Amino acid sequence: MAVELYSFKEIEKIKRACDVVVDVLQAVAKAVKPGISTYELDLIAREETKKRGAKPAFLNYKPPFSDERFPASLCVSVNEAVVHGLPKKEQVIKEGDIVSLDFGAYLDGYAGDSAITVAVGEVSREKRMLMEATSEALREAVKACVPGNWVSDIVDAIYKVAKKYGVYPLKNLGGHGIGRKVHEEPFVPNHPATLAQEKKDYKLRQGMVLAIEPMLSLGTEEIAHNGDRWTVITADGSPAAHYEYVVAITKQGPIVLTEYKHG
Ligand code: MG
Ligand code: MG
Repeated sequence: MAVELYSFKEIEKIKRACDVVVDVLQAVAKAVKPGISTYELDLIAREETKKRGAKPAFLNYKPPFSDERFPASLCVSVNEAVVHGLPKKEQVIKEGDIVSLDFGAYLDGYAGDSAITVAVGEVSREKRMLMEATSEALREAVKACVPGNWVSDIVDAIYKVAKKYGVYPLKNLGGHGIGRKVHEEPFVPNHPATLAQEKKDYKLRQGMVLAIEPMLSLGTEEIAHNGDRWTVITADGSPAAHYEYVVAITKQGPIVLTEYKHG
């Protein structure tokens, strides 16, 4: 499958879908408190998406690696969970957790996708450092999103920041193209070994829109599964963090389409 190139008009539409995604994620993040279940967080995401006239992108989504459809709108990955965390009634958030919230939505035929990691109350110094490392890796990866660079430059940017902090990018996971569909070509690995396995690199061009999503862990590069058929965890059980932005590649430089308002 070829990599889609988008016009500025289309990029604007992707931006509108991304605006909904960010609004929903910020509403869910506010609700992340000790005592709430990950299932309740999913319900909030559904409600907030509906309010905005959009459709959750992950609900009933069938990824190529599964023969089932994802039964929730939101992925909630707590502590050692990396991505694709399946919300559950019995999984209750507690003080000291770090919680990755990953959400996608469709609005007017275009998709948005973003992820943030939220600290619940006081978290350990190591978890705090891991969150900082992962968001710095994302910011550095965004800087690499210029025409003429390659997907491998994004992989390198993430790797360098991980090494600087002494943390680990997780293998076999990564970002992706996005636009008319939530997951498009190219795959944007988070680990150089995964890129090497792909045996494919892509030159970045004006009009490409990428979801960049570094996932870093405190102890390992290897992933495992927790048995619920969806949730990806670190192989050694160490905590992981995850942030995701959608970036448009333009001659004027990278434009981040997932804008978070602070304060
Ligand atoms: Mg996502
Ligand atoms: Mg994504």
